[in-house]
Amino acid sequence: MTKIRKIQLNERDMPKQWYNIQADMPNPLLPLLHPGTKQPIQPGDLEALFPMALIQQEVSTERFIDIPDEVLDLYRLYRPTPVHRAYNLEKMLDTPAKIYYKNESVSPPGSHKPNTAIPQAYYSYKEGVKKMTTETGAGQWGSALSFATNFFGIECKVFMVKVSYQQKPYRKSMMNLWNGSVIPSPSMETNAGRAFLAEDPECPGSLGIAISEAIEVAATNEDTKYSLGSVLNHVLLHQTIIGLETVKQLEMTGDFPDLIIGPFGGGSNFGGLSFPFLRYNFTEGKKTRCIAVESASCPKLTKGKFEYDFGDTAGMTPLIPMYTLGHKFIPPAIHAGGLRYHGAGAIVSQLLKDKLIEARSVDQTESFEAAVTFARAEGMIPAPETSHAIAQVIKEAMIAKEEGIAKTILFNFSGHGLLDMGAYDEYFAHNLKVQ
Ligand SMILES: *Cc1c(COP(=O)(O)O)cnc(C)c1O
Repeated sequence: MTKIRKIQLNERDMPKQWYNIQADMPNPLLPLLHPGTKQPIQPGDLEALFPMALIQQEVSTERFIDIPDEVLDLYRLYRPTPVHRAYNLEKMLDTPAKIYYKNESVSPPGSHKPNTAIPQAYYSYKEGVKKMTTETGAGQWGSALSFATNFFGIECKVFMVKVSYQQKPYRKSMMNLWNGSVIPSPSMETNAGRAFLAEDPECPGSLGIAISEAIEVAATNEDTKYSLGSVLNHVLLHQTIIGLETVKQLEMTGDFPDLIIGPFGGGSNFGGLSFPFLRYNFTEGKKTRCIAVESASCPKLTKGKFEYDFGDTAGMTPLIPMYTLGHKFIPPAIHAGGLRYHGAGAIVSQLLKDKLIEARSVDQTESFEAAVTFARAEGMIPAPETSHAIAQVIKEAMIAKEEGIAKTILFNFSGHGLLDMGAYDEYFAHNLKVQ
């Protein structure tokens, strides 16, 4: 029998609505608090930073939200993305488990991030926004937003974490190609940046610091809005296109996932893949286990506290109810820049607190070991962030082997590592720190 390696969805069958898990969560979210008054924020409080359409999505409890035609049209540049069956990896591990992965690396910037960059740029354009500003770690989010704003003639200014700016020079080239401008953070352009540099001129930067700089620029310029690539509810909403497609694709195989695994930075790709399946846990009594995999060097889910904290280092964002290591925490300079964030999104945090999802951490060396195994089996070279999920997939496949159970494991191949080859070189030269 011919093996079907890729399950493709026709463009016509691409979902036309996003799924909002806030409609089905057993416990509703705690409100965001105003950083000054500590009272629940009003939608108007966020207007200086975000377009109104996104603020409404942030608090919406409607189950399905229409994807605008203009967004669907740009999604079709790379969507639907394929689901692959990792037959070679199954064979290499000699596991009875079936391993599937959703391949989000086929987008032009190389990750799942354009799934939210496109609607964010679209809604901003509709509301007359001329400039957008944001932060980026490894450069995946900055390149996705540059890619998206370029279609709408919006200027894009990206504060890139300094250590990543040095580690991944081609990400900057990519952002420049799509008309984005890139500033290493902390920078001298903002009060926040100047304060961090005064404290530590050698500061490697962090996502939290870069967010503070980007927010300051948006808050002090009338024509500029801020955009966040993860954590917020509307970002996770947009990413559910991943899981909604996958539900349809797995239906074609007759398999249903026992386990869903995703790498975890702020929760967007993990939520995007898992929420449309979690819906069946809440409404149909399914028992799919969903596991978020974070970096052991930035363990907010497995070692952090659930409390109100700021989304950025300088303390300018609303207070978010989340698992956090504290907004002052500056993670070590690991290569998985997208996982170097001190907190987790509110929805994922509430689900973890309610024990409806699980979390694990993986260290840097383990993640590269897994990446090399995967690349030698399946050919694809994963991003360092993605590799954390793959390490957990391999562990679960080995558990399935010990138990002799043919579990179905689904994971998110959130991005490729073709611009991370310097990190692979360091791994092979034994120059990587364990965490
Ligand atoms: C940004 C990123 C992540 C982590 O961010 P989430 O918002 O948690 O998804 C994971 N993988 C890749 C490839 C990324 O670019």
